[in-house]
Amino acid sequence: PMANQLRAMGISPEVCRVTNASCFGACSAELAGKCTHILVRPQNVLYRISTLEDLQEVVREHIQNGRIVERLRVKEEPVSQDFFELYGEIAFFNRQTRIALRHNGIIDPTSIEEYFHYRGFEALARVLAENDPEKVVEEVTRSKLRGRGGGGFPTGQKWALARKSREKTRYIICNADEGDPGAFMDRSMLESDPFNVIEGMIIGAFAIGSHRGFVYVRAEYPLAVERVENAIQRCREWGLLGKNILNSGFDFDIEIRLGAGAFVCGEETALIHSIEGERGQPRVRPPYPTEVGLWGKPTVINNVETFANVPAIIIYGADWFARIGSDASGGTKVFALAGKVKQTGLVEVPIGITLREVVMEIGGGSPSGKAVKAVQTGGPAGGCIPASMLNLRVDFDTLNKAGSIMGSGGMIVLDEDDCMVDIAKFFMAFSQDESCGKCTPCREGTTRMMEILERITTGKADESDLVKLERLAHLVRKASLCGLGRAAPNPVLSTLTHFRDEYLAHVRDKR
Ligand code: SF4
Repeated sequence: PMANQLRAMGISPEVCRVTNASCFGACSAELAGKCTHILVRPQNVLYRISTLEDLQEVVREHIQNGRIVERLRVKEEPVSQDFFELYGEIAFFNRQTRIALRHNGIIDPTSIEEYFHYRGFEALARVLAENDPEKVVEEVTRSKLRGRGGGGFPTGQKWALARKSREKTRYIICNADEGDPGAFMDRSMLESDPFNVIEGMIIGAFAIGSHRGFVYVRAEYPLAVERVENAIQRCREWGLLGKNILNSGFDFDIEIRLGAGAFVCGEETALIHSIEGERGQPRVRPPYPTEVGLWGKPTVINNVETFANVPAIIIYGADWFARIGSDASGGTKVFALAGKVKQTGLVEVPIGITLREVVMEIGGGSPSGKAVKAVQTGGPAGGCIPASMLNLRVDFDTLNKAGSIMGSGGMIVLDEDDCMVDIAKFFMAFSQDESCGKCTPCREGTTRMMEILERITTGKADESDLVKLERLAHLVRKASLCGLGRAAPNPVLSTLTHFRDEYLAHVRDKR
């Protein structure tokens, strides 16, 4: 309809072209679908469009006559522009540092030509021209890039481990089995900038000496699947996948594998079993997949966001990337900011930024004016950090020490209306439901913990139940086979630590 409208106004596609748009990541700005946003380049003016008349006015005034339409302009107080000056005058964006998300909402995700325009495949071309895979591994190691799926394992180190294997058949997998409730970072990156992820994967494959890769993506993400399929196809047409990529002598191709929605398949050994056609259940590690992975061969599994950072590291340099983050971890992290904040959406910030900056400055604090009580990070495997600790720096190690985790990037803000026991119960119900049942501590432990939480929240528990709950939580954490079970007690343990009074209130007041 928009293209027809422009045609009816006599505006040719040379002047104003309608393309597929991708997601800006500013969920709250969309006003529940009542409006849309248009970014007019090269001035980077963002408009909020609610009616056809608004659109006509922007086209007529700005695009045809070069006059900014102040009435529709989305403008906030001036803030410093960051490295990528792409998002106009919106504080929500400009307080971020967008690397993995740098093309989100900017390029047509179906067009390889637009990706080329934004330096797409420059990193790959450089890497292949230099023909020095060791140097790529060193560069990624120096950048201090750590796995963004939640584990935080140094990416360069993982690549080096696979590279030094004597086994010559090696695989590389992009883990897009995002399953945390409320998290949609990977989905957005695949839908909005699939070529960037594919480029990162090809560079990774070249670095470790792999000739076959897989994108393991949930079937519940049909648009992401479609965009990745299109990106793979277009790359093949341009000689960027397949035999003898860019005449370098390097062969590599990618296949898509669909996940059926089991949360545990995000765990790398379960994911490998799933690709092999087996039941998606984890196995004991070691051996780690870098030694014995897919079909018994060395396999590197990286998350979508990890790959999305790789082209920028090659183009702008490892030192640039390492400087952006904290001492132990380079670059940025994307969070899905949700809950009791004014501005929700995808937020990419330097690792090491404080929780306060994310929640109060980028998120704008509580919309109701009520006090923020806690921030839940890391999804069902994470924990709740009380407002008194908002000055905590967001990085893998400090969040771990505080009883939570960075995880893949879920961040939910809670205010004084939220019951922390209910929050813990919600996440425990999720983990119990998603437990694959292979090992007893997780299968039975999460079930028993749920029963106790049920008793507590219905006024049927006494204080001895709190002792049992805590003991069980430690046991499940210690004895479970995989990360799902080991992390499942985190929401309970962190709330018992920081909000014990709320558990006691349930137990004593029988409510
Ligand atoms: Fe399955 Fe839970 Fe055991 Fe992991 S910890 S293997 S999810 S039962």
